[in-house]
Amino acid sequence: MSTSRLYLDWNATAPLCEAARVALVDAMGMPGNPSSVHAEGRAARAALEKARRQVATLAGRESAAVVFTSGATEAANLVLTPDFRMGRSPLRIGHLYVSAIEHPAIREGGRFAPDRISEIPVLGSGQIDLDALAQLLRDHDAGAGLPMVAVMLANNETGILQPVDEVAALTKSAGGVLVVDAVQAAGKMDLAVAGDADFLIFSSHKIGGPKGVGVLVAKGEALMPVPLIRGGGQEKGHRSGTENFPAIVGFGAAAEDAVRALAARMEHMAHLRDQFEEGARRAAPDVIIHGAYGPRLANTSFFSLPGLKSETGQIAFDLEGIALSAGSACSSGRVGESHVLAAMGFDPALGALRLSVGPTTGEEEIARAVQAFARIAGRRRAKGAA
Ligand code: PLP
Repeated sequence: MSTSRLYLDWNATAPLCEAARVALVDAMGMPGNPSSVHAEGRAARAALEKARRQVATLAGRESAAVVFTSGATEAANLVLTPDFRMGRSPLRIGHLYVSAIEHPAIREGGRFAPDRISEIPVLGSGQIDLDALAQLLRDHDAGAGLPMVAVMLANNETGILQPVDEVAALTKSAGGVLVVDAVQAAGKMDLAVAGDADFLIFSSHKIGGPKGVGVLVAKGEALMPVPLIRGGGQEKGHRSGTENFPAIVGFGAAAEDAVRALAARMEHMAHLRDQFEEGARRAAPDVIIHGAYGPRLANTSFFSLPGLKSETGQIAFDLEGIALSAGSACSSGRVGESHVLAAMGFDPALGALRLSVGPTTGEEEIARAVQAFARIAGRRRAKGAA
C-alpha cells in the first residue's frame, strides 16, 4: 500500500493553482486599500478591477455586474431575498422555488421565510422535473410578488447537469427571476447554457482560487437585491466591508486560468473519469455509477457499491491514502446520508462515494485509485461471503 497521499476530492475544494498562488502572494505584498485615493490605493483598485474582469469573463458577463462576497454561500444569501430594487424602485419577490438537490447554500433559501420556499422535485435521472416546475409556476400567487427560481447548473455530488436553459424558458414565461448556482460547473464546462440566468453564483476555491471568496454576477445593475451587508458602501453598495483583496486577486487569476484551458481540461478529466469507471466496473460488476448515461461533469464519478456504507468506504479509501468523499463535504466533518440520492429515489442508506478529479490529476493516480477500489470491493465480498 502506497503511503503518499492522493487527492481525488476536487469538488469539495480544488488545490490552489499556480496562477492563483502567484497572484495571491503578489497582492499580499500590496499595502493599499482599494477604496483609498492615493497611489497605493489606486494600485490595489486596479488589481481588484482586473480580477472583476477576469471573473466576468469566466461568467460571460459585463464586469460592472460582479459583486465579490465571502463565498458562494454569502452570494446565495445576498440574492435569495424577497427584496429587490429595479433601478430606484422596490421590487418584491413573492416566492422562491429551489430544487430538491440544491446545495444547502441555496436550499436554505437565504432571506426568504420558510413558508415562502417550495421544493422542485427531481427525476430518477437526477435532473429537475420540468413538468413539476411548470406546474409550480402556474400555481404561483402573482399577487404576492414575482416568482424566483434557484437551481444549480451541475450537482456537487453526482456531477449531473441540470436543464438550465429549459428552466430559464419556464421562469421567463412566468415573469420570474432565475438564479443559477454555477459553483461546480465553473472550470469544468461551457457556461453558455446559463446565459439566460439573471444571476450566477461562483466560488473561488472550487476553481483553484483561495477559499473564502465568491461572487454574485448579475446581468446588469438594473435589477439588484437589497444588500445583505451594509456599511461603507464597497462593491457599489451591494456588499460593504473592505474587500478580501488578496483572495479576490487570486480568484481572478484562477478564473482566467480556468477559461484559458477549458476544452483541453474537460477532455483530460473525462478521460480520467472513464478510466476510473471502466476499472471499477471490471473489479466490481455490481457497482452503480449514478448518472452515467446522462449529461454530467467531466470530472465527477458518483458511485455505490451495494453492501458498502459511505462512511466505511470513505475511511477505507482514506486508509489507502486516497482522499475522496461521501457526497458533499459536511461542515461538521460527519458523513451524512445524501439528500441528493434520496431525491433521486434511491434508499440513502445505500451509500455512495464521490471521486472528483482536476486538471493536474494523472492516469497513474487513477490506476492507483482503481487498485484501491478493487481491494475494498474484494474485502466487501469476502465479508459478505463469511
Ligand atoms: N454551491 C455548490 C454547488 C457547492 O458545491 C458549494 C460548496 O460546496 C457551495 C454552493 C458553497 O460554496 P462556498 O464554500 O463558497 O460557500
